[in-house]
Amino acid sequence: MVYTANKNRYETMKYRNCGKSGLKLPEISLGLWHNFGGVDRYERGRETVLSAFDAGVTHFDLANNYGPPPGSAEITFGRILKESLLPYRDEMIISTKAGYRMWDGPYGDFGSRKYLLSSLDASLKRMGLEYVDIFYHHRPDPDTPLEETMTALADSVRQGKALYIGISNYSAEQSAQALPILRSLGVPCLIHQPSYSMLNRKIENGLLDVLEKEGVGCICFSPLAQGLLTGRYLTGSVPEGSRASKGVFLKPDSLTPELLAKLNALNEVAKAGGRTLASLAIQWILRDSRNTSVLIGASSSAQLHENLSALSYPALSAEELEKIEKILAN
Ligand code: NDP
Repeated sequence: MVYTANKNRYETMKYRNCGKSGLKLPEISLGLWHNFGGVDRYERGRETVLSAFDAGVTHFDLANNYGPPPGSAEITFGRILKESLLPYRDEMIISTKAGYRMWDGPYGDFGSRKYLLSSLDASLKRMGLEYVDIFYHHRPDPDTPLEETMTALADSVRQGKALYIGISNYSAEQSAQALPILRSLGVPCLIHQPSYSMLNRKIENGLLDVLEKEGVGCICFSPLAQGLLTGRYLTGSVPEGSRASKGVFLKPDSLTPELLAKLNALNEVAKAGGRTLASLAIQWILRDSRNTSVLIGASSSAQLHENLSALSYPALSAEELEKIEKILAN
């Protein structure tokens, strides 16, 4: 299975500087939370990753616990790297995280120095890498001093095991405390990874302002609300094999009549502009230049391509944005 990357891969993708750093990220990045675990079909995952790279998606987002089972997405990605992508390593931004429960006992969860640095070593081993580009603390830890967690992150850079540092799921207030610590340690935070979509706008209430002030980039996870903001559930039925059909992270009972009415109204705005709902949802996030990248998931390369097509449409007009606001306000 010899792979040669598409020669035209940088022709259509657009890149944004991550905050005030010199690192550019693609407007759409691919996450491996679902669909790349040991329980998933390897060939399908490989095809999705390679199609993404062929389309200029240079950034791949992982975490120690992605799978299932935990760790297996990093193993899958390591295999794809080894078989196909390692010759292109310098063209790739690979991130991983630690912060959720990964192994038994008190040192396999949250934010201690012990957990973060051991976990990063294990992630590097699973992926067969010497370093990751971005190492994140995955979620705040109420029981570990912020200085300890931030120092462990900064030390991962000093040890040459990560090039940049990120935080994820930190509130505006927690970020305002953590970011100056990282700066004082000489390793400024590159990026924050919060949840953001048309259905979850929490970061508009302060976090984006903090990031802008500190010059930190923002990569938005679950931009399609795990598939709700696509054509997948518009009729209210739950397709076999879809994330909602598994009922773990997305529950079928979230498909209330109110939500379906909202999704269908958004879909009408998308259709009127010749777009799909997924494209609309992605373009809506990119309307704000503080959002560096939209971090999508995809269970097939067809979904990936539909999502990437968002970048081929003109930006949303003021009129379209107004219509969307009205629908979301309802
Ligand atoms: P999305 O909101 O993009 O949801 C992705 C899922 O939606 C796909 O797996 C697929 O589900 C469905 N989908 C995507 N595109 C289409 C399409 N065009 N048509 C129909 N269905 C579609 O993002 P995720 O929730 O997967 O999160 C993306 C990434 O963000 C993760 O992989 C991870 O890297 C990161 N993340 C980080 C978190 C954190 O705490 N830092 C938490 C969560 C995610 P299906 O086909 O299975 O129904």
